[in-house]
Amino acid sequence: MKNKFDVIIIGAGPIGLRCGIEASRRELGHLIIDKGCLVNSIYNYPTNMTFFSTSERLEIGGVPFVSHGDKPTRREALEYYRRVKDSWNLNVNTYEKVIKVEGSRGDFTVTTDREKYFCNDVIVATGFYDTPNLMNVPGENLSKVKHYFREAHPVAYLDIIIVGAGNSGVDVALETFRRGSRVTMVIREDKIRDSVKYWVKPDIENRIKEGSIKAYFNSVISEIREREVDIKTPDKTVTVKNDFVFAMTGYHPDFSFLKMMGINISNDDSKTPQFNEETFETSKKGIYLAGVVCGGVETGKWFIENSRDHAINIFNRICNNR
Ligand code: FAD
Repeated sequence: MKNKFDVIIIGAGPIGLRCGIEASRRELGHLIIDKGCLVNSIYNYPTNMTFFSTSERLEIGGVPFVSHGDKPTRREALEYYRRVKDSWNLNVNTYEKVIKVEGSRGDFTVTTDREKYFCNDVIVATGFYDTPNLMNVPGENLSKVKHYFREAHPVAYLDIIIVGAGNSGVDVALETFRRGSRVTMVIREDKIRDSVKYWVKPDIENRIKEGSIKAYFNSVISEIREREVDIKTPDKTVTVKNDFVFAMTGYHPDFSFLKMMGINISNDDSKTPQFNEETFETSKKGIYLAGVVCGGVETGKWFIENSRDHAINIFNRICNNR
């Protein structure tokens, strides 16, 4: 039958690719579908980012990953995962978005913006990087408000605000400060987060202490306008001059996409999609979750390092069911 596969994997991130490798190892026909390019989330990371993991912890499928520095860069990771795809001859369709998944185990129909495909099992490895957490304040829809950061040059010599004091917010603050931006941080908590990389934390704390980066702690943005922003601090609301806002407020999985497939989401704050922790099969039989999507809003729980073996559990289950 045309367009029929044993397994369809949604998402060609590192974990989706790892699932494709496991399908090949077990001689199952697979198709990996991604709405963007290969490893689209990594492609969209800041241009100059460095992973916190060492390269061997990002390896999949036994393909060696040698990095030139202590930690691999985004550019090295893009090159590496292209090499993984080639080494394993993975079957990947890019720039094709999955819109609907219908049916039941053994008989699924996967509809994309281009085609219909048929398969026995579906693996959802869609990550969380496409859906930013919004601040829900007036002016958030202005084009000067960004939820993704590429590089500092376009905002050099400008007044910028960074919202959030996690790893992303801190990296953006330091990089833009060192390219000549006038940086203000707006931080909901009373300090820089403890989860910030230990080799970066003293740097940002010292820049704040010496006053070269201005930080408002226990504060939130209350309104964004074309040339200025209101910040609600514990004492009063202050208005500051502003050209760009980088809202580094985190991301979450696309819950409506998961619900569309019939996957239950927990009602508590973690909004964890429900799945069996041994098999990764969801509340919808024959549909599995893999990678960082498993964490719900707890996006720090899973990363490449500790989710690259989800594929083994998933395929143990798929093969047992055959
Ligand atoms: P993703 O890589 O996010 O892949 C999901 C894919 O699904 C995307 O390509 C997306 O385009 C696709 N997709 C989504 N919806 C659809 C749809 N409807 N149809 C088709 N395709 C779809 N982890 C580490 O282990 N070490 C690190 O050092 C590290 N550093 C990080 C630094 C940053 C800045 C960030 C944001 C994350 C970092 N992580 C790190 C976490 C981890 O690398 C990423 O989250 C990783 O990309 C997760 O892999 P994944 O395959 O689960 O999801």
